[in-house]
Amino acid sequence: MKGRVALVTGGGRGIGRAIAVRLAREGAKVAISYRSNDAAAQETRKLVREAGAECEAIKSDVAEAADVEALVKGVGEAFGPVEILVNNAGTTRDNILMRMKDVEFDEVLATNLKGTYLCTRAVMRGMVRARWGRIVNISSVVGLLGNAGQANYAASKAGIIGFTKSTAREVANRGITANVVAPGYVETELTGGLPGSVKEQILGQVPASRFGEPEEIAEAVAFLAGDCAAYITGQTIAVDGGMVMQ
Ligand code: NDP
Repeated sequence: MKGRVALVTGGGRGIGRAIAVRLAREGAKVAISYRSNDAAAQETRKLVREAGAECEAIKSDVAEAADVEALVKGVGEAFGPVEILVNNAGTTRDNILMRMKDVEFDEVLATNLKGTYLCTRAVMRGMVRARWGRIVNISSVVGLLGNAGQANYAASKAGIIGFTKSTAREVANRGITANVVAPGYVETELTGGLPGSVKEQILGQVPASRFGEPEEIAEAVAFLAGDCAAYITGQTIAVDGGMVMQ
């Protein structure tokens, strides 16, 4: 991965931060995007640089086409065309279906699914030209199993899997792979607000009897983003302590 240009969306904190640092250790030049938390993004930038890599942190909403175009242009000017794209930015607006508001559904689909589409489309031409590319999309076990109270989130994460398979088929003969990593429960700000009783209930469904670490998700991403995974495409790898066994 030495010298490769990587873009990790939502790299400001949580799993995205761990992925950014992991790719930096592999020798990639790493750009991260984030939505609003400048302080967190600067901390990731510092950690990536400490890991020995160049880093750019760019504020950009993945749900906005103009933002995404500017993001990819910015990375191009700093480092060159994106060669490794990790669509990690994600959000939740949980509610039971009967009470779900359109805005809750739309916001989650816009960031998680449309964001993945916009970012992938924006880097595709460069990857096709280079005849090399790695796309790793972060879904969730919820996209595979469903989850009460998360119909919007589950739809977005299941959508990512179908989107990734289609992308993989379109560009497989151009040296580009597209795969999904589906994390189980990982303690981050995204999940930190869940009541203890819900966490206990989730833990009961994890054969490994523990939650995952962001770094464990990053390991799978690093593998799929590297040269060794050239013949793996359209796949979903669950990193979830055994919650989903396919
Ligand atoms: P966090 O909430 O900790 O971090 C989310 C990151 O995404 C932040 O950097 C945030 O930016 C960024 N982000 C959110 N919305 C947008 C947007 N519209 N445009 C650009 N950036 C945005 O989440 P996690 O690290 O927990 O999750 C990372 C990914 O992993 C998500 O896709 C999530 O769905 C998935 N996942 C997480 C699991 C978990 O247990 N934590 C389990 C399964 C999947 P900012 O810092 O500026 O707010």
